[in-house]
Amino acid sequence: MAISGKVALVTGAAQGIGLAISKRLASDGARIALMDLNREALDAAAEVVAAEGVEVSTILADVSKRQQVSDAIDQTQRELGGFDIMVNNAGIAQVQPIEAITEEEMDLIHAVNVKGTLWGIQLAAAKFKSSGSKGKIISAASIAAHEGYPMLGAYCSSKFAVRAMTQVAAKEFASDGITVNAYCPGVVGTDMWVEIDERFAELTGAKKGETFDQFVSSIALGRSQTPTDVSQLVSYLAGPDSDYMTGQCVIVDGGMVYR
Ligand code: NAD
Repeated sequence: MAISGKVALVTGAAQGIGLAISKRLASDGARIALMDLNREALDAAAEVVAAEGVEVSTILADVSKRQQVSDAIDQTQRELGGFDIMVNNAGIAQVQPIEAITEEEMDLIHAVNVKGTLWGIQLAAAKFKSSGSKGKIISAASIAAHEGYPMLGAYCSSKFAVRAMTQVAAKEFASDGITVNAYCPGVVGTDMWVEIDERFAELTGAKKGETFDQFVSSIALGRSQTPTDVSQLVSYLAGPDSDYMTGQCVIVDGGMVYR
């Protein structure tokens, strides 16, 4: 495997898409640093990833805090003996009509989704440059980075920002041989969607599960997405087959948004 022997840091790795990515990159042969806010879930995830037969580290840290991301990258390099792939996966969602979004809600979602991704891109690139590595930076965007959805204004704005930063960083770091791309999932059956569905129910009177089913009904391939569906794309973006690709925010959604 071409990813074999590389070292990846994955944020938001304790569950959902981040865990699936960590597992997949581990099965590709990479050593993995799993970073998350949730210690208990992080330890359980580390066991699952280590079962792929690679060395793993866990890091309790908040992506919205620049110093914590910097320390996490240093810890990854120190404990796993390298640093080649940065996956800025951590993110949060919010469901609120534009008219009701508060200053606190907007600050929080931008702190995690926008600043968290910026620190990951910026600090990974600095580390790759100082070690002369042609590293890969991969971030979580979304179909909500390509299309605005009612009630998801703050979330969409944060993911459009991830798409913008991906393009800018790709251009700024291309001469260093560093590539910067993003993956854009559609409707993935994780805890994030449980929360989105519950919040839609509160705001619109929809039944539990109804909003999720409604979104899934518009998917051409006829089923909701699994975290594994996302991890397969990330494996490609992390490996040498994507070496000639940069600045792209690739949609993997079973056929919902066409760009
Ligand atoms: P999830 O809520 O299931 O998991 C997110 C993980 O990130 C959790 O373990 C959480 O503890 C961690 N996290 C949250 N804030 C953090 C912070 N400040 N610092 C470190 N860790 C933090 O979510 P998911 O569905 O697995 O989503 C992962 C990423 O994919 C997110 O960026 C999300 O926006 C994006 N995405 C998800 C979907 C979907 O349908 N689920 C669709 C498109 C994009």
